[in-house]
Amino acid sequence: MDINEFIKDCKENVLSGVGITSEDVSKLFKIPEEYVQQLGIAANQITREFNGNKVDVEQLNNIKKNSCSEDCSFCGQSAFFDTGIESYQLPSAQEIVIRAQKAKDEGAESYCLVAAWREPSPNDFDKVCYIIEEINDKVGISVECSLGFLTIQQAKKLKELQVKRYNHNLETAKSKFSEICTTHTYEDRIKTLQIARDAGLELCTGGIIGLGETREQRLELVLELASIYPEEVTINILVPVPGTPLELQTSLEKSEIIRMFSIIRFLLPESVIKISGGRETNLDDSGEELLQSGANGIITSGYLTMGGNEAKKDIKMIKKIGLEA
Ligand code: SAM
Ligand code: SF4
Repeated sequence: MDINEFIKDCKENVLSGVGITSEDVSKLFKIPEEYVQQLGIAANQITREFNGNKVDVEQLNNIKKNSCSEDCSFCGQSAFFDTGIESYQLPSAQEIVIRAQKAKDEGAESYCLVAAWREPSPNDFDKVCYIIEEINDKVGISVECSLGFLTIQQAKKLKELQVKRYNHNLETAKSKFSEICTTHTYEDRIKTLQIARDAGLELCTGGIIGLGETREQRLELVLELASIYPEEVTINILVPVPGTPLELQTSLEKSEIIRMFSIIRFLLPESVIKISGGRETNLDDSGEELLQSGANGIITSGYLTMGGNEAKKDIKMIKKIGLEA
């Protein structure tokens, strides 16, 4: 079958609710580069049909920075690598409330509390709960968390505090995972997502592309993500951090990045698909084309360890391409 026809067929199957098979997904990963633009256009049509024109804009707060016990080879916050990044423990609730209010004023819909640790200690978990209560009480913005491994009791407590969504990334394909992390396993990450789901939290999961994985491994990751059916998929594009084992990793071609986002949209038509870390550094247009090729979410105003576009600039970009922030 002609490739344009094949893309069109896949799109029709998604729009009609039939969906596509893993064989189709495998074929989409192999279509020649010159058809990727067409794939992006089809993914955009699916996005508009299922999600309208709204872009989900989120801001992050790195509430515990650096000195993490884990050895994830891409991460500048691992204690295994000397990256020169500053360290701090939990800031006061008051400080975090001010930043959450600023995020809300700048048009963010959700505010995600992220911590660079394997899992929260009981004491730190209590402090985070207090911070969430204060944000709920004083700001009123949708709170999301990314706190590493959780017990079911902790997950239920977050649900009680009206945390909407829990982020925990698979990072990469199962077949690649042991190359990028040896201090925990892929199964540990799957288990945490299951715990969050069992507690009634919505799920946000995804990973990082550009770690040196093969296309076949990106296929593996997207099929795993689709089987979890998360409300949100978050895809980071590696930012090589000096001092980490991946500091010299070469970046992915833009067409591979577009291919990845578009295919996820075919698999998860209703989910938020967010462009996360690496948006400004890896893309010459800050994600304009990706937001028209399947993605419908961004993180604005900086990341965990590095700055990013100001919210104002991103909101302007979203409006410029005819979407809503
Ligand atoms: N420590 C928790 C965990 O690992 O689940 C909290 C989240 S971790 C601090 C935040 C996420 O940022 C990681 O899961 C990873 O996907 C992403 N990330 C970390 N370093 C990155 C890098 N150099 N480039 C792109 N994304 C990165
Ligand atoms: Fe720690 Fe999370 Fe970074 Fe891994 S990704 S080193 S668990 S902060």
